[in-house]
This record gives sequence, C-alpha cells and structure tokens, in this order.
Amino acid sequence: MIDFGLSEEQKQFRDLAREFAEKEIAPKAAYHDETGEYPMDICKKAWELGLMNTHIPEEYGGLGLGVLEGCLIAEQVSWGCTGIGTAMEANTLAQAPVIVAGTDEQKKKWLAPFSEEFGLTAYCVTESDAGSDVQGIRSIAKRVGDAYVLNGSKIWITNGGVADWYFVVAYTDPEKRHKGMSAFIVPRESDGVSVGKKENNMGQRASDTSAVTFQDVKVPVENRVGEEGDGWRAAMAAFDHSRPVVSSAAVGLAQSAYDHAVAYAKERKAFGVPIHKHQAVGFMIADMAVAIQAARLLVWESAWLIDHGKRNTKQAAFAKVFAGDTAVKVATDAVQVFGGNGFNKEYPVEKLYRDAKIYQIYEGTSQIQRMIIQKEIFDR
Ligand SMILES: Cc1cc2nc3c(=O)[nH]c(=O)nc-3n(C[C@H](O)[C@H](O)[C@H](O)COP(=O)(O)OP(=O)(O)OC[C@H]3O[C@@H](n4cnc5c(N)ncnc54)[C@H](O)[C@@H]3O)c2cc1C
Repeated sequence: MIDFGLSEEQKQFRDLAREFAEKEIAPKAAYHDETGEYPMDICKKAWELGLMNTHIPEEYGGLGLGVLEGCLIAEQVSWGCTGIGTAMEANTLAQAPVIVAGTDEQKKKWLAPFSEEFGLTAYCVTESDAGSDVQGIRSIAKRVGDAYVLNGSKIWITNGGVADWYFVVAYTDPEKRHKGMSAFIVPRESDGVSVGKKENNMGQRASDTSAVTFQDVKVPVENRVGEEGDGWRAAMAAFDHSRPVVSSAAVGLAQSAYDHAVAYAKERKAFGVPIHKHQAVGFMIADMAVAIQAARLLVWESAWLIDHGKRNTKQAAFAKVFAGDTAVKVATDAVQVFGGNGFNKEYPVEKLYRDAKIYQIYEGTSQIQRMIIQKEIFDR
C-alpha cells in the first residue's frame, strides 16, 4: 500500500518547525541576508526546541528521527530562510558519516554531547582543485605512532568558522586514489587548525562559508572514522542521508517563492484585473505548483527508502537535481510575477532568487547528480 499521510508525530515536528520559521526565522531573514551575521541565537533556539541533530540515534541521547522527519523540518525552516536553514542543517552532513561509519566510542564521544549542549560541526571535503572531482584533494594524513599528522586546505566549508569539530577527508595512501582516502574527526581547538574569513556569497548569506586549513595537526588514531581507506565511502554515504534533506530545503524555498507569487498575483492589477487572471501569469503559477509538489514527492520517496533500510542513491539524486532546478525556476518565475518590484530588495523574492542558485551547486552539482543517475541506469 502507498500512504502519503504523515503520522501524528511527523505532523507535530512539521508544525513546530513551521511555527518556528514564522516567528523566529522569517522576521529576521532580511537582516541576516543584509548583514551576513551568523544566526547563532536562532540556531540555539532551534536546538532547544529539538529542531537540530534530529537524526542522532536514541542510544546516543538523540531523538533518533528518520530522514523523512528531517526533511519535514528542513522544508519548513527553509520556507523561513534557507541561509538560516543551512546554518542549522550543516550538522546533518558532518554528523552523517560518523553515524554511518563511526564506532560506538566515537558516537558516544562526538555525537552524544549534541543532546546535552548546543554545538556545530562542519563537513570538510572540498579543496581548491577538488570540488566535483573529490579524488583531486591534496590533503594528506601521515601515520606517526598512535596519531596522524594532517596537512591540507579545505574551502567552501559550511559552518567552517563556527564548528566545534570537523569531519575531514584526506589521503593516507594517494597511490590508491579514492581507496586511499581516510576520514577523521578533528576538534576545532587542535593546534594547527586555522579558519579563513567568512565568504561574501551571493545568497544564503546568513550561513557561514569559510576556508579551513590544517597544518601539521596531530589527530589521534581513535579519531579516524572507519578503517584506513574508508574515507571516500564514509564521505559519500553521508549524501544518501543529507541529499533528501537539502532537497527538501530547496522545496521550502520554492514554496516560499510560490506563496509570495500567489499573494502578489491576487493583489496586483494590470489592464483592470488581478494579474493572475492573465493566463500567462496564471499558468506560470500553475507550473510552479506542479513542480513543487513533484519535487516534494521525490524528496519523500528518497527519504522513505533510506529510512526503510533500502538503497536510495538514485532517488536522492533525482530529488536533489529536480528540487534544485525547481527552486531556481520557481524563484526566477516569482521575480517575473512581481515585475519591477521583483528586482528590488524591498520585496522578498529578490533574496529567494539569489538563495536558490546554490541548490544546483553544493552537495554535488546538478551535473554531478545527472552523472550519478546515468551511472545508476547504465552501470548497475
Ligand atoms: C555556499 C557553499 C557551501 C559549500 N559547503 C560545503 C561544505 O560544507 N563542505 C564541502 O566539502 N564543500 C562545500 N561546498 C563545495 C561544493 O560542494 C562544491 O562547490 C561543488 O561540489 C562544486 O565543486 P567546484 O566548486 O569545485 O566546481 P567544479 O567541480 O570545478 O565544477 C565546475 C562546473 O563544472 C561541472 N562539472 C565538473 N565536473 C563535471 C563532469 N564530470 N561532468 C559534467 N560537468 C562537470 C560542474 O557541475 C560545475 O558546473 C560548498 C560550496 C558553496 C558554494
């Protein structure tokens, strides 16, 4: 049987996130966009309400919610502001490899504290010559006794400037290419860790994106996630958990742009009638509604699969590419519905237009998602 209904608990989380987005996020979204100030107070409030780290298993003090619940929360939070949503959600990506590949001790040490106190983490893979092509990383971790000495420079790291610890991928054996990569948990306060300035990005300006450099950082062996050579697998497995959530955030942005477009199309008159009565505008909004619902259903399916222990790599790529493209298209069309006002910062859709673009870039570009889908079709 197929059931598109949500359980009472799922509805409660969704409604809690919606209320939080309406009261705490949306009113401050323009301020954080304008100033680029990190929304630390908002993140802390979200944490107090249980809207962050929801996927940490119950045996480690977390709520143990599924990816689908994470998606429901992410959509609502991102309806309020995707920059603030990204600041809140970056923990999901950094913690996922530890949930997937970490030991019991690592989970107790690095995940359980998030239930006791507020904290942030960051996922450090990308380097200046290695974004889509992760094998191009140059970071090296050399084993010396009971520790590794880590050297490397990561860029574009979400929460890089505010994280308490980093999930870092580096080569332990470069000759073996992706099978020679290993993953590590590196505390922020380790000697040799330095953080660059916050990047001045086009959109999602509330979120912190920074370079993080590791110079002769001593990382104990017990901080290695998985065996030597498991780093690639741990880093990529995280995406099966995080891509549905990121895609759901793109749906939230599209829903917000749609809501603004519908309200404006009812209110704004041209040629003596509300503009939605002009079929060209009405159809544009109808197309938005179709795409948003289709994207949401792809997100839900990809989340449902992994929550039921099934492989979701292809469906997570479906969701990511379609929701990302939908966010961009809907935000673009919302600007069109607003006409000249859409081009102006006094109106909300200009920000959504800038914020949307990143969904075709981070967590694997739209081209990389299509490569994954192509591979799934022809190579599996
Ligand atoms: C705001 C922001 C936050 C980010 N957060 C993080 C983070 O927290 N952690 C992290 O590790 N990284 C993060 N990233 C990095 C992000 O994942 C990369 O930017 C992304 O994967 C693309 O890599 P690149 O920028 O090097 O582009 P490139 O890989 O250089 O790609 C350039 C263009 O070429 C295309 N392309 C590349 N290879 C192919 C191919 N084989 N076939 C077809 N097209 C191809 C790409 O799709 C893209 O359009 C973030 C980036 C941004 C902008």
